[in-house]
Amino acid sequence: MKEFAYSRANGVREALVMVAEQENGRFLGGGTNLVDLMKRGVEAPDLLVDVRSLPLAGVREDDDGDVVIGATTTNSDAAAHPEVRRRYPALSQAVLAGASGQLRNVATVAGNLLQRTRCAFFADLSTACNKRVPGSGCAALAGVHHNHAILGTSPSCVATNPSDMAVSLMLFDAVVHYETLDGEGEIPLSRFYRPVGDTPHVETALPAGALITSVRLPRATAGERSRYRKVRERASYAFATVSVAADLEVRAGRVHEVRIALGGVASHPWRARIAEEELRGGPAVPERFRAAAEAELAAARALPHNGYKVTLARNLIQSVLTEIAG
Ligand SMILES: Cc1cc2nc3c(=O)[nH]c(=O)nc-3n(C[C@H](O)[C@H](O)[C@H](O)COP(=O)(O)OP(=O)(O)OC[C@H]3O[C@@H](n4cnc5c(N)ncnc54)[C@H](O)[C@@H]3O)c2cc1C
Repeated sequence: MKEFAYSRANGVREALVMVAEQENGRFLGGGTNLVDLMKRGVEAPDLLVDVRSLPLAGVREDDDGDVVIGATTTNSDAAAHPEVRRRYPALSQAVLAGASGQLRNVATVAGNLLQRTRCAFFADLSTACNKRVPGSGCAALAGVHHNHAILGTSPSCVATNPSDMAVSLMLFDAVVHYETLDGEGEIPLSRFYRPVGDTPHVETALPAGALITSVRLPRATAGERSRYRKVRERASYAFATVSVAADLEVRAGRVHEVRIALGGVASHPWRARIAEEELRGGPAVPERFRAAAEAELAAARALPHNGYKVTLARNLIQSVLTEIAG
C-alpha cells in the first residue's frame, strides 16, 4: 500500500483547503470503500482528510418540511431515524439491505453515494478497465459479466453502481448539497451520476474538490407506502443483483401516482420513467405493471451472461407494485 498522509479537519472550509492544496487529496468518511481500494492499489491518494469530526452528522427537518440528512450521518443512523422510517420507508429498507451492521455503523451517507463499482475487473489491476485507466479497454465485455449492467451501458463500460441507498434516494428525487471554496451548490440526484458514454471514469457531476454536506429529501416526494426489494446471490451481506424501489398511489382502482427506481442494472440508480409514464392514469393491475416494466426494459442491452437480469427486473417491478397496490 502506498504511503499517504492523514489529517482531521475541524471545519468545512479547512477540509476544503486541505484537499485543494494537495494534488491528490481525498475526503475520508467511514473508509469502508476508499481504504479497501487503497489496499488493492486501485485508489492511491497522497492525503486523506477525515471529515467525520465536521458538524455534518444528523437528520433534521428544514423550514419547508424537507428531511435533511447530514453527509457524515452513518448509514445506521439514517436508516433508524423516525422521520426517514415514517415518510421514506424505502430508504430505510434500502440502507438496511446493504452491507452489514458493523459496516453501516461506520459508513457515511456521502461515502455511500460515492462508493465505486464492484466490477471485479475494476478492482483487478491486471485487467483492462476504462473506469480505472481511461482508454485501456473493458475486460468485462469478454469476461464473466453476469452481474453487469443491462441499461445505459456503452462499449466503454458495463459496470453497475452498487449503492442500495442511492436507488431509494433516486425514487424520492433527493438533492445532493455540497460546498466548494467558491461557495455552496446543489445537484438533484437525477443529474448527480453521469451517463457512461466514453468517459466511465467521470462518475458524477460533483465539482472537483467538492465536499458533500447533506442530502435533502423533498417533503413533496415522501411516500409512506414505498418499498425497497433487493434480489442478491445470498440472503445478506451481498450487493444487489437487481433491486427495485417503488411508490404507488391508487385511487378508485387507477394509478394516481407512481415512482420506480432500479438498482443493479446500470452505472447509476435507474429511474424507470418510461414505466411510470405507461402506468399513470391506467388500471392498477399486475398485467399493466408487467407491461410497463417491459416497456422500460425494451432498451436493455444484455450481454451473453446477464440476460436473466431483464426477466428478473421485469418480475421484480411487477411484484413490488402488486404488493404496494394490495
Ligand atoms: C463487505 C462489504 C459489503 C457491502 N455491501 C453493500 C451493499 O450491499 N449495499 C451497499 O449499498 N453498499 C455496500 N457496501 C458499501 C458500503 O456501503 C460503502 O463502502 C460505504 O457506504 C461507503 O461509505 P464510507 O463513509 O465508508 O465511504 P469512504 O470509503 O470513506 O469514501 C467513499 C468515497 O466517498 C468520498 N467521500 C466520503 N465522504 C465525502 C464527502 N462528505 N464529500 C465528498 N466526498 C466524500 C471519499 O473520498 C471516497 O471517494 C459494502 C461494503 C463492504 C466492505
